[in-house]
Amino acid sequence: MLFDDDPPPKLVGIARLAASSDLLEAKRQVEYLELETRRFIGRGSGRMRSIWTINPYRGCEYGCKYCYARYAHEFMELRDPELFERKIYAKQFQAPAFRAEVRRLKAGDTVWIGTATDPYQPAERRFQITRQMLEVFAEESGLDLGITTKSDFVARDAALMARIARKNRIRVHLTITTLDERLARMIEPRAPRPALRLAALAKLTEAGVPVSVLAHPVMPLINDSEESLDAVCAAAAGNGASSFSAAPLFLKPCSAQVFLPFLEERFPHLVRRYRERFEKAAYLKGHYPEMIAERVERIRARHKLASRREPECPAPRLQGDQLELFPALSKGPGTVPALQRKVNRL
Ligand code: SF4
Repeated sequence: MLFDDDPPPKLVGIARLAASSDLLEAKRQVEYLELETRRFIGRGSGRMRSIWTINPYRGCEYGCKYCYARYAHEFMELRDPELFERKIYAKQFQAPAFRAEVRRLKAGDTVWIGTATDPYQPAERRFQITRQMLEVFAEESGLDLGITTKSDFVARDAALMARIARKNRIRVHLTITTLDERLARMIEPRAPRPALRLAALAKLTEAGVPVSVLAHPVMPLINDSEESLDAVCAAAAGNGASSFSAAPLFLKPCSAQVFLPFLEERFPHLVRRYRERFEKAAYLKGHYPEMIAERVERIRARHKLASRREPECPAPRLQGDQLELFPALSKGPGTVPALQRKVNRL
């Protein structure tokens, strides 16, 4: 236990670099800092071990209530989970160093941009790190790139991505969890509205960039009804998406610290059931994930969309005995009255 007169802990590695970062700009409650970076491209972990990951920023201003990437700030000894959305670190970009790392990749390697941050969050308008990285990728061939975002600003790079696609595979994974703007504002408070994301989808596909729409995470009794998921899939198909997927919410401790208080405030009637289901494990097991997988398969077939090629974030691990989540849901789509509705190693 730390007492007030304990000496401050000695910071090492990424925590030391973060503590010595220069302040670039502060707006509202958001601070932008510059982070010295030794390596831009890291190895994925767990199910993502076979892929390379790039996160141009640390932290994400969008502040999604379910965000699993908040753990990335813990490596910098920033323990308050809300700092993830208020202290945004822009990696100090150096094209020659980045190019040297890219050139060490092999033909066919998969590289995922945005596994623990959104590469098109507001910071990108100013620092343009994602764009500078894509410009380097445009010089290469034979790579397999995936970009995950929920920002309409991704459309800025449609022409550049189309150029990359001539010699590489590239796919944008655009997250749209609901078309209900009121619900979207609640769960993804500073992310662009769903309608803006759909407009970006149309621009990307028009430019010839393949886009998958991800309705992750599916939150029980919040956005999991057949009607809600079908509406997202229909809009995805109508705007040119080539694939659609959705997987249930998982709650690691860093995300539970934000998500559960959010539920208490906005969906108090669901708190007890969420606590019971997530108390012992971060991933839901049993009937519920199977029901959602069947529902998504049915919806995808209805709109003639494929399933995405690769996971962009850890998908729920289905293992162990069946555990029925929200028994009422097994009888039909879940409804809430009036509301139907990813660490780069340095
Ligand atoms: S879920 Fe993605 S977009 Fe939302 S806060 Fe986390 S990193 Fe940003």
